[in-house]
Amino acid sequence: MPTLVSLDGRLVPPEQALVPVLDRGFLYGDSVYEVVRTYRGTLFEPGKHLARLQRSAALIGLALPPLPDIEAEARRTMAAAGNPESYVRIIVTRGQGTFGLSPHLSDERRLVVIVRPLELPPPELYERGLRLAIVGIRRNPPRALDPSAKTGNYLNSVLALGQAKKMGADDAILLDLVGRVTELSTSNVFFVKGGIVVTPALALGLLDGVTRGIVMELARGQGLYVQEAFHGPEALAAADEVFVTSTIREVMPCTQIVFAGEPEPRLVGGGAPGPVAKALRAAFAGYVEKRLGGA
Ligand code: PMP
Repeated sequence: MPTLVSLDGRLVPPEQALVPVLDRGFLYGDSVYEVVRTYRGTLFEPGKHLARLQRSAALIGLALPPLPDIEAEARRTMAAAGNPESYVRIIVTRGQGTFGLSPHLSDERRLVVIVRPLELPPPELYERGLRLAIVGIRRNPPRALDPSAKTGNYLNSVLALGQAKKMGADDAILLDLVGRVTELSTSNVFFVKGGIVVTPALALGLLDGVTRGIVMELARGQGLYVQEAFHGPEALAAADEVFVTSTIREVMPCTQIVFAGEPEPRLVGGGAPGPVAKALRAAFAGYVEKRLGGA
């Protein structure tokens, strides 16, 4: 099944989807993006993703094409690619303009939509749970490069994930500058303690995940108390359960946490996925069905 790219409105195979090296997205990561996926061929929560794209663009002062045009281009590219399920990456860069760092040097923008066959995590991962490492790289503070903006500058996450892999883990947990848990390289994190569901507060500087928001609502719908709070990594390790959320992972348990300098990972919840993560994953599947029904 093919990967297909819309490059400023031209549908081309990836090997012909060439962006000039003077594009500011390439030079500086001066761009914003979203990843949306399909369920049964239908885009999931496009409105929430486009709203976040708009917020990201506002945070870096980038004028987007009209959101309905972006969505239409995503749908057109998906239809032409013809995959049963799609991974859809929408990127808007500040274009090329005149060479130089200042954003005022460009009033252009470039819209790219990459449609790929959807690849999902192996089902075993939901059975064994993720092994996460507390890495040394810290999350950008909101007053540096605000992590609530989903920009093309992902080096913070790239380096964190690289460290996590070196530590033998599947993904990284990034702390903020004073040591509080923020999020993973491309997922949000939750823990459960004494029946209370806790997730880092947005004020810490992290991405307002679409899945995070849905899962918080679903948890409340199940009568669980959900708290947005500040906690160190010890709270995660001592929790009854830890799980992560993202568009691709949905709700995935974490069963091991690696701390630097410790010979063995610490087990979360005895090393097995817990009931709250399982229930919320099932509730998420139910929510998807409901949304498809209503679509
Ligand atoms: N945090 C970061 C840094 C991410 O890149 C992502 C993936 N977009 C998430 C969290 C999860 O967000 P979502 O549920 O919207 O996919």
